[in-house]
Amino acid sequence: MTGNDITHWVDGAGWAGTAGRTGDVYDPATGQVTARVCLASESDVDHAVTSAARAYPRWRDTSLARRTAVLFAFRRLLAEHAGEVAAAITAEHGKVLDDAAGEVQRGLEVVDFACGLGHLLKGDFTENASSGIDVYSIRQPLGVVAVISPFNFPAMVPLWFLPLAIACGNSVVLKPSEKDPSASLLLARLLREAGLPDGVCTVVHGDRVAVDALLAHPDIAAVSFVGSTPVARSVYETGTRHGKRVQALGGAKNHMVVLPDADLDLAADAAVGAGFGSAGERCMAISALVAVDPVGDELVERIAKRIGALRTGDGRRGCDMGPLVTAEHRDRVASYVEAGIASGATLVADGRSVIPDGDPGGFWLGPTLFDHVTPDMSIYTDEIFGPVLSVLRAPSYEAAVELVNASPYGNGTAIFTTDGRAARRYQNEVEVGMVGINVPIPVPVAYHSFGGWKASLFGDAHAYGTHGVDFYTRTKAVTSRWPDPGSDGVQLGFPRNS
Ligand code: NAD
Repeated sequence: MTGNDITHWVDGAGWAGTAGRTGDVYDPATGQVTARVCLASESDVDHAVTSAARAYPRWRDTSLARRTAVLFAFRRLLAEHAGEVAAAITAEHGKVLDDAAGEVQRGLEVVDFACGLGHLLKGDFTENASSGIDVYSIRQPLGVVAVISPFNFPAMVPLWFLPLAIACGNSVVLKPSEKDPSASLLLARLLREAGLPDGVCTVVHGDRVAVDALLAHPDIAAVSFVGSTPVARSVYETGTRHGKRVQALGGAKNHMVVLPDADLDLAADAAVGAGFGSAGERCMAISALVAVDPVGDELVERIAKRIGALRTGDGRRGCDMGPLVTAEHRDRVASYVEAGIASGATLVADGRSVIPDGDPGGFWLGPTLFDHVTPDMSIYTDEIFGPVLSVLRAPSYEAAVELVNASPYGNGTAIFTTDGRAARRYQNEVEVGMVGINVPIPVPVAYHSFGGWKASLFGDAHAYGTHGVDFYTRTKAVTSRWPDPGSDGVQLGFPRNS
């Protein structure tokens, strides 16, 4: 172990675990290994879950007033330390600093929402539902819940879940991505500083071994997972087989439809921002642009012009787009550029020839634009998760909707038009969980819920908003009466209301 080891966080302190396994953490803008993260064994996970289970009963019984106070203090601390969290994200993920700061801000919104937990958790009461009988429902926490998050939003995705799970009275074991683990530790430290009792928020680092151990652990009541579709599907199936409540958010292929009446400058700006922001490593990135005839040529020309003005480089130098997260991922994305050329798409901008404003050892790939992409090509069918935007042509609105609805994914989509009736029709007909109308990345605010359809989400509950409160609580209905002494006789019939 060196001074640069990133440890687990158990019982309110760093803990190296017993596994003796580590993973390399890179600075993607230099290609250098900057730290080693401890990777948990099954017994390390058991130790972490046991600590969380020990902390649960006291936290569950802590008053709403005290829990609220912790969340308010956490909100203040997170806002104060937002720059530090953003810097940690940029150092390990590579996204540019401004983008990292935006991610922290969106996470903060969920903390804001969780600060209203008194209102969110209050139950219903019916007086005199039957003669002398009152019926009421209460919400209670589940126990220890696991949160398993992806590399692309190392602070925001944990913050989709942690504040609400904790506010509802659960203990949480967070398993962040092993590629950029530091932001989650900063969150755990700030929660402790805010007054959260030790053990209520635990961070365990690891890979598949840790995930499998969490899914099988008898003391884990529920799992919130976010990641690629194959892993999300398997986490959902395994977790539910073990009797857990599971929500598993998966991958995406998000379409942006541009109708002939759209403002083409607005659409081109949006396509470039949503296609290449965070180097395309966003689950809400636009990766397929559907140009409805006859706007294709003009739109591609405007997008290409904007791509020419983008600066790819080190996220600490004020560039527009940073590197990809690992060399392996960069090579995988670059292989799709080869595949697109081989399948006959027109390569308009080639990111492989980018000259970055950064260390030559960084994991660089510039913005790449393909035109005349068809639905059978792998650059269209696969989630590439990189700065590769494909333009498809559709002869009509109907053909565009048919194309979008034929996709196995259904995370986000956008339509660009000046025709309100067409937009309203799209909102109604499209089989996608989150829809933007002249908004390219329609991530809902914290009091609405986030979630896709089809292969983009397994389970019933979306993330945060009221879905989050429902997911992290179970309801209990109480039927109560206080009869006069001696007023009852024996009754064997099924109780009727009167
Ligand atoms: P990933 O599926 O590789 O990893 C996600 C998490 O699962 C990580 O914590 C990782 O350690 C763990 N994991 C990886 N392989 C595993 C396996 N075989 N078994 C068990 N656990 C495993 O995803 P990623 O590369 O970190 O993130 C990118 C993916 O996440 C993209 O597909 C993206 O669309 C998706 N994503 C979806 C949303 C959403 O809201 N739908 C949000 C963000 C990211």
